[in-house]
Amino acid sequence: MLTSTTCKLTTMGLGMFGIIAVVGYVGTLYRESGGIPLNIPYAGNGTDSLPVKLQLYETLIYDKPCSWRSILLENYTLWFVLYSLAHLAMYVEPQRKLFRPFKLNKMYPKYELIVKEFFRSARGVMIASALEVGVNHVYSNHLVSDRWRWSYLELGEGGVIDFKCLLCAGVFAYLWGDAHFYWTHRWLHTKWLYKNVHKIHHESFNPDPWSGLSMHWFESAVYFSSAPLMCMFAPLWMVRFTFKGLLVFPLEGHSGHGSWALEDTWNHYIHHSKFNWNYGSSPTWDHIMGTNYDPSKISGMLAKERYAESIAQAKLVGATISDDLKGIAEYKSVAETKKSR
Ligand SMILES: [Zn+2]
Ligand SMILES: [Zn+2]
Repeated sequence: MLTSTTCKLTTMGLGMFGIIAVVGYVGTLYRESGGIPLNIPYAGNGTDSLPVKLQLYETLIYDKPCSWRSILLENYTLWFVLYSLAHLAMYVEPQRKLFRPFKLNKMYPKYELIVKEFFRSARGVMIASALEVGVNHVYSNHLVSDRWRWSYLELGEGGVIDFKCLLCAGVFAYLWGDAHFYWTHRWLHTKWLYKNVHKIHHESFNPDPWSGLSMHWFESAVYFSSAPLMCMFAPLWMVRFTFKGLLVFPLEGHSGHGSWALEDTWNHYIHHSKFNWNYGSSPTWDHIMGTNYDPSKISGMLAKERYAESIAQAKLVGATISDDLKGIAEYKSVAETKKSR
């Protein structure tokens, strides 16, 4: 188990660091020249292009406080553009056919639920933005002492990120974000909080992109709190980067598409279809704490209790535990084999 856990930790950590490193490198390359030229052709002319440049570096890594207007604009644009594109590509005909072989549950969620998810997500983006405005106020008025701030997370001269800073920031963001998500999520699965708060997120038991940020307002505040809690140790650029990450990351776990051969792609889908397993954003903490979904373990006493709790949690949102990946069939066969022994 230790080897597999270490392996997953390494894979996830390297994957995240790789993405940050590539984006950071591309952004740095074009930083001096004012950004990546987008080459949008003039209508009618075809040979000239509009002088539009994407300043990727400063879009991602920016260490100065921003106005509340630009925070709202950034967050709503990021959320609306990315989630709409994912929805249009994977859930709207005719192009959704291309993705259908990778759809984990072959049914598509009802339109009424998607509308609810959209408005709940929009409320979540507002909560994230309010927290980010508060964080900007804290930094611009020096309300938190920088005594505890980790110097190796500070940007270099002229706001440039060096390799050591990038490596430390990637490792720290992954370890902190993954632990915060896992433990707050387990807390949200306690009886009262599930029934009164987290149940809303689980109405999407066949998730689609808009399910990712579809939460009760209290859950949205808990989810986004992982960014402001970093204020004590991290510089503003990193807290800001974490806010953007928290807006984008749920897309991966809630796309409803993946491959059964790759655990990272179905890990959170199983949480939605089976309720009381796989709490983590990556599988790491679930493997450490033994809460990963594994039908071969369901005959154990603790797992049986967890399974019974899953059935009760599913019932509260009008769902039954789905039978799409091994699951209940194996549970029954394991239980029956035990009985006949
Ligand atoms: Zn949950
Ligand atoms: Zn979810």
